[in-house]
Parts: sequence; C-alpha cells; structure tokens
Amino acid sequence: MSNFSFEELGISGELVEALHKLGYRNPSKVQQQVIPKALENSDIIVKAQTGSGKTASFGIPLCETVDIEERSPQALILTPTRELCVQVKEEISNIGRLKKVKAVAVFGKQPFSDQARDLKQRTHVVVGTPGRTLDHIDRGTIVLDKVKYFIIDEADEMLNMGFIDQVEQVMKKLPKDRVTMLFSATISEQIDVLCRKYMKDPIKIEINPERITTERIKHVCYKVGYDYKFNLLKDILITENVDSSIIFCSTKENVDEVSEKLKAQGFPCSKLHGGMMQAERLEVINSFKRGYFRLLVATDVAARGIDVQDVTHIINYDIPMEKESYVHRIGRTGRAGKQGKAITFVNSFDNRFLLQIEEYLGFSISKEEMPSKDLVFNMKKAFLEKLNSKPVLKKDKSSELNKQIYKIYINAGKKKKIRPGDIVGAILNIEGISSDDIGIIDIQDGFSYIDILNGKGNTVLEGLNTSNIKGKAVKAQRAKK
Ligand code: AMP
Repeated sequence: MSNFSFEELGISGELVEALHKLGYRNPSKVQQQVIPKALENSDIIVKAQTGSGKTASFGIPLCETVDIEERSPQALILTPTRELCVQVKEEISNIGRLKKVKAVAVFGKQPFSDQARDLKQRTHVVVGTPGRTLDHIDRGTIVLDKVKYFIIDEADEMLNMGFIDQVEQVMKKLPKDRVTMLFSATISEQIDVLCRKYMKDPIKIEINPERITTERIKHVCYKVGYDYKFNLLKDILITENVDSSIIFCSTKENVDEVSEKLKAQGFPCSKLHGGMMQAERLEVINSFKRGYFRLLVATDVAARGIDVQDVTHIINYDIPMEKESYVHRIGRTGRAGKQGKAITFVNSFDNRFLLQIEEYLGFSISKEEMPSKDLVFNMKKAFLEKLNSKPVLKKDKSSELNKQIYKIYINAGKKKKIRPGDIVGAILNIEGISSDDIGIIDIQDGFSYIDILNGKGNTVLEGLNTSNIKGKAVKAQRAKK
C-alpha cells in the first residue's frame, strides 16, 4: 500500500466513501497501476496474484464508469469458480453500493430462472462462470449490446479447468468496441495467444509475485512417509498452535478421509471439495470467512481467489503437482500485511515436485525436523483449549457500509406489477426524501427490497406504511437480511 489516495486516481466521492467504509484507505500497488489505465479505456493484461487487491483494481473503474440509468449490463466479468463469482459480485456491490451499482452473479447448479429474473431488472455488472454465462447469452437473458468492459479473472485457472474455449465463445459475441482486461497469476503461451487475438495493444502490468511469497510467508517442509502423514498433521497443528488453517489434499477422497479422521480424533474441522453440493460449498466458505471454525480441509477448489482474512497456516498435506498451485495455495495466507506460514509434507516420491516448486519460487524451502514427542505433549493442552473455544468472529468487511444502509422489505413485487419507477415515485412523495436517498431496488415475485441511504430509513418506512404504491397499500418493514 502507498500514500497515494483514491481521490488522486480520480475516483469519485461516493466510491471513495464506500472504499473507506470497507477499510480500503489507500490503493494497493495493482490498483495504482491498473485503475488509471482502465479509466483511459486501455486493454490491460495484469499478472498479479490474488491477495493483491486485484478485484477492486477492476471493480473500482467499472463502478466509476457505469451509467446508472442504463438498464442493460455494461460490464461482464468471467471467473473460473462459482465461489469466486459470488465473491467478486459482492466486492463490486460493496464498492458501488452508494452509487447504486447493481451486480448480478450467474453460475451453474442454481436455478436458471432465478438468475434470469434478476437479470431482467436493471443490471450494471454481470459476474459469471463461463458455461452459465454462455447459456444466458444464447437464451437472450444476458444482452451484450451495451457491454463496454469485459474482464477475465484468473485466466490461467480458466485454462486449467478447460474453460478457455467457452471464454473464447463469449468473446466472439461481445461488441468489438470494448475494453478487455485479463488477470492471471501466470501468463502461459495459450493465454498470450488469446490476448493477441482479442485485445487491442494491451498494456502489460506485472506485480512481482516474489515479494508476496517470501516477505510475509515462512515456507517449510517435512520429509514424511505416507503412513505417518496423518500423525504429523496432528502434531504440527498442536506445535504450531494453529489459529486458522487450510489443509490441502490432492483429491476429494483424501479430503473426506483426512477431515473424518481429524474429527474422529477431536479436531473440529470442515471440508470443501468439488463433489459437494453448491449450497453447501458456499455455506462452508462463508462460515470459514467469518471464522466459525479454524480448520478447513480442501482440494484446490479453495486455492483460487477465495479471500479469507487471517489464515495463519497453509498445510500442503499432499504436495501440489503443479508448481503454480503451490503459489495459489499459499496465497491464502500472509494477506493484507499479515504474516503466514506454508508447511508442505514431502514423501520420497514427491521430491521432483518440491524441486520444481523451489525452482519456480527462486529459493529453497527449509526442511524441518519432526516435532519431538515432548514438544507435542507440552503444547497439546493449550492447543486443544483454543481449538474447542468459541472463536472470535471475524468482522464482515461490509458491516460498516451496511450500517449506513437501511434495507426495507415491502410485501409487493412483480405479481402486483410493481416496477422500480413505482417505488421511487412513492418514496419521492415522502417529505424530506430525494432520489439521492434511494439505493438499490430489488423486485422479486411477491416482495421487494429497497436500500435507503443517508439515515433516512425510518422516515421512508413510516412514509411507505402510510401511503400507497400504484394505488395499493403495502406493508413495509425493516428487512432482516
Ligand atoms: P483480492 O486480491 O482482490 O482477492 O483482494 C485481497 C484482499 O484485499 C481483499 O480482502 C480485499 O477486500 C482487500 N483489499 C483490496 N483493496 C484494498 C485496499 N486498497 N486496501 C485494503 N484492503 C484492500
């Protein structure tokens, strides 16, 4: 972070206010470099890792430039995983909350019709996974005519997951006159080809990954035979007095096995892998983000993009077979100026993977001795007490922002033919309220939500309960969500 301010980058007041409420005082390095170029409408290729603040580096210029009155999407963002899709959508909604920017997330294994209904309302930014986004485009529920910004997030992961053809199909359908930004931790030949084909004189920005990976993260490894791995894991959790950790395994079967064994031996934990139901995956990530539990056993689905504060330890129970995965996994710790530790278990077959990782990192990972039985014994009590104590919940980043927003629920929606204009009209009739006080309006079938800003929530609530919308009385109450 630097002493630069967001104002100096030309960001308008209502976005700066939201950023400050989110705790973003100064732009991060990637933001300092990307925001001015994005505001000049240049195509950009950014080599940066998660944790660098890259979501806001495209989120801020998008929110800055969207025309709020326009109903069709003006920006389309593709992400490789559903979890990241939801996270990016939330980040953009937070940044643009006071400007009333509406972002919608579209991803698979969720009812298409719910997303189509959301997209029918005024939508400024769509964040989607490639397959579902393509589906919406083909069925006409996402209209691309007005898209001025197209962003590919985690492009290398798109490639790994085999999505690059779908990304290309989407690109072919976009208006030619647009800005394209591509973010990737690594830029492979295939990504380079895609950029040359679909981007106009892109500016290349590189945020040095070494600084992120060595300054704040201590890297160690343990030589351990396959049969002793689980015992070592238990010992390490204790001797490191782990606060919060992601334990990475290479397959979902290993995740199931390790998490079951941990639980059976009194180490409360949760698990995350691609074989779980979508709703359950989102629930686990959200609970981990808030700090409801300390240990998450996961496959690489958790390695990319997911932003969890204060993960103190990354444990590679199974060494990643691709050197890039190591960097993505450890990117979950040592974030936002905090220190972190990356611990990797290596058996005799894993040596070549370790060498590849070390070569890629440009330094060797120090080999640790197994913790002694005495040390484990002496530290066990303190660790188990911590593990079983009620964790201090982490603050929800948007809580400050939400304090300023009063969400109202009304018992009328699409079925009563209510439109946003009807709600705005009714609210503007209330004395002392102007259009600046009305935030995002979300109309569902049987009900609607309205964000009220500037401390006018109670006034609007009373006003709505004593007036009517489209000639009908409605019941308004403060929303619970
Ligand atoms: P990302 O690289 O987009 O996953 O962001 C990493 C973390 O940094 C997220 O928790 C962001 O909310 C946070 N963040 C992004 N920009 C800033 C900033 N300028 N100041 C402080 N935190 C930030």
